[in-house]
Amino acid sequence: MFGSPESEPLRTKGFPEFLDVDALLAGGWEPLPFQQFILKVHSRCDLACRYCYVYEMADQSWREQPRRMSDAIADRAVERIAEHASRHDLAEIDVILHGGEPLLAGPELISRVVRGVRGAVDTGTRVNVNVQTNGVRLTEAYLRLFESLEIRVGVSLDGDAAGQDRHRRFADGRGSHALVSESLRRLTAGPYHHLFSGILCTIDVRNDPVRTYEALLEYDPPAVSFLLPHGNWADPPPFREPGSSATPYADWLIQIFDVWYDSPVLQTEIRMFREIMRLLMGGPSRTETVGLSPVRMVVIETDGKIEQADSLKSAYHGAPETRLHVLSDDLDRALLHPAIVARQIGELALSPLCRSCDIMSTCGGGLYAHRYSPSAGFAEPSVYCADLYRLITYIRDRCAQDVARLRGAG
Ligand code: SF4
Repeated sequence: MFGSPESEPLRTKGFPEFLDVDALLAGGWEPLPFQQFILKVHSRCDLACRYCYVYEMADQSWREQPRRMSDAIADRAVERIAEHASRHDLAEIDVILHGGEPLLAGPELISRVVRGVRGAVDTGTRVNVNVQTNGVRLTEAYLRLFESLEIRVGVSLDGDAAGQDRHRRFADGRGSHALVSESLRRLTAGPYHHLFSGILCTIDVRNDPVRTYEALLEYDPPAVSFLLPHGNWADPPPFREPGSSATPYADWLIQIFDVWYDSPVLQTEIRMFREIMRLLMGGPSRTETVGLSPVRMVVIETDGKIEQADSLKSAYHGAPETRLHVLSDDLDRALLHPAIVARQIGELALSPLCRSCDIMSTCGGGLYAHRYSPSAGFAEPSVYCADLYRLITYIRDRCAQDVARLRGAG
């Protein structure tokens, strides 16, 4: 059923270059179809965030991308998604409009893609659409469009004005907090609140964690995702010295966890904490940040290239490539690409150190992009290993204390 990608050598360095996909298939392993489709409808951004992994890190392929996805590529991408959903009889798929800044693509292209996918899939397939925006252009007109097309909206915000404007600035240096805050009020204070899917907040440990969290809560988000800044063993994240036992990111997150966990009412969902708690209770993970569940996501770039998660842009130039394209390849071909296979085989893709770790099934080696080193490829523990260990064991111990207290009370 699944074709093999071209055998031209990949530019991966170390694992998963040597992953023997044929041996896995012969042993009975089967890939899971993609369920989440990330469409890069526009490749440029109207902000110039200092930590941006698309423009500021190792991969510079954005320079070769057209600014906007053409109608022809959009239509072909839609057909490929529908074909994949139909072939694998998927009951539900997620389509995420992404960039760059996806709202720069304009309402016509957004409508074309969303109506196209919904029209092309079989009647039994539910299509959830989400747009992830920086919030700068989230106008009333866009909100009306999203309402009519049932598009949910995620906004990136790093906290209060000081936290947001530390990195999330326009190219001329102006901060974006005032504009994004205005957009968020438009989204959340009136009739569009039900479209709000949540906030993405990239951590800067210099920002006060509780003040950051409280600033996000002002918009009543249904969910918050705290993102660790991308980095790896060769190009470490800020304030994360590779191999050091210091845990600045865990210490930052734990202060928020305590406020969130101790609140008598659920203030919001914090995806990272909820996923860790689910994994500790033996459930599967629903995010690629932690856990060992197969990753079922694929990216379609602005020019139609089929790619892996764009967090890999932080590793090295060309890291997300598969050398497949929607004009010539169906998405099943990507399912057997070694780098995509590596993210579906759980423990088998982990480093020896992770495999012997007592919290392996919860941590899962952390985000794949954060494992990269030039010598071993992606077969390293996360560069955030110490932070992940500290955060997960802290949450485990706090939950265990509560369970013990409840048992004692019973
Ligand atoms: S805590 Fe470190 S060693 Fe353990 S699974 Fe996570 S990254 Fe691997």
